[in-house]
Amino acid sequence: MEYLASGNRYDKMKYNRCGKSGLKLPAISLGLWHNFGGVDVFENGRAIVRRAFDLGITHFDLANNYGPPPGSAEENFGVILKKDLKPYRDELIISTKAGWGMWPGPYGDFGSRKYLIASLDQSLKRMGLEYVDIFYHHRPDPETPLEETMGALDQILRSGKALYVGISQYKPEQTKKAVDILKQMGHHLLIHQPRYSMFDRWIEEGLTDVLEKEGVGAIVFSPLEQGLLTDKYLKGIPEGSRASKPWGFLKPDRITQDKLEKVEKLNELASRRNQSLAQMAIAWVLRKPVITSALIGASKVEQVEDAVKALDNLEFSSEELNEIEKILTE
Ligand code: NDP
Repeated sequence: MEYLASGNRYDKMKYNRCGKSGLKLPAISLGLWHNFGGVDVFENGRAIVRRAFDLGITHFDLANNYGPPPGSAEENFGVILKKDLKPYRDELIISTKAGWGMWPGPYGDFGSRKYLIASLDQSLKRMGLEYVDIFYHHRPDPETPLEETMGALDQILRSGKALYVGISQYKPEQTKKAVDILKQMGHHLLIHQPRYSMFDRWIEEGLTDVLEKEGVGAIVFSPLEQGLLTDKYLKGIPEGSRASKPWGFLKPDRITQDKLEKVEKLNELASRRNQSLAQMAIAWVLRKPVITSALIGASKVEQVEDAVKALDNLEFSSEELNEIEKILTE
């Protein structure tokens, strides 16, 4: 049936300015790393994307290698765009990335100009797009001079194939260097995409300071720690969950007793806040003004609905924050 987006789609979502830029992103964005590949059920992914857009999620995050197989998430998203979202293209922020291994040989990995330009061309073809809104270098390359990688981003911006550029997984010093090089080329680094959750707080040690100072936005991935920061693993590994799938990136050995004890306590605190743990985990990453958006994943429509309800209670008392701190550090 033909898709008609909900007329209420902008009523509840919060939109945050992305650093010092003209672009606003939804407080919650949807990533297509898992659940949208060739191994997944297409109609399920399609329903998730449609529901997300109906709830005001205007930003969809992809990468060349999302699948499996690599490239298939972009292909599937291209079909969803064609079938459902084409009329809404100007209401969407679509991102993709290159930086991890994508094709064999020396030109399909890391950060050369050769790789980034070719990869973006492939991504555009797979999604049936003329441009993406944000193009990222997906991870730092220890060997390619940063000037070349940023030069590739400059070329991409000038060619009109991306409107903004970002970086992912760069450490604070590398980030500052990338900001400076792009500035010399007349561009502003829009956004950084690091991992951040109650279980992974590395960005608090320097990165957020750089982002704040330089006016760069932050979209944080895996705020639910791939599902661990929900109540789903409290009674074992459920059938169909990410940890149960052979291609999932959440390996069962990451679900340790120590983590589960913390999850149990956090879950109890979340219910006192009248929230699910997933909602509290999202609200917690958004508590810092430097964080523009929480980049979640979902395997079911209900998970997106659950996530968006986090917006009903984003505030934490200092007692609650202290309690979380105690649970995480004890
Ligand atoms: P999350 O931490 O949000 O984990 C999502 C998973 O958690 C879902 O697939 C689902 O797993 C489970 N889940 C979500 N909501 C609920 C809920 N309400 N109740 C119970 N379980 C729930 O994020 P991801 O790890 O998926 O990453 C999000 C996005 O971040 C990616 O799609 C990608 O766009 C980006 N990313 C970027 C990286 C980078 O290097 N730049 C690296 C990794 C991700 P289940 O399948 O078990 O139901």
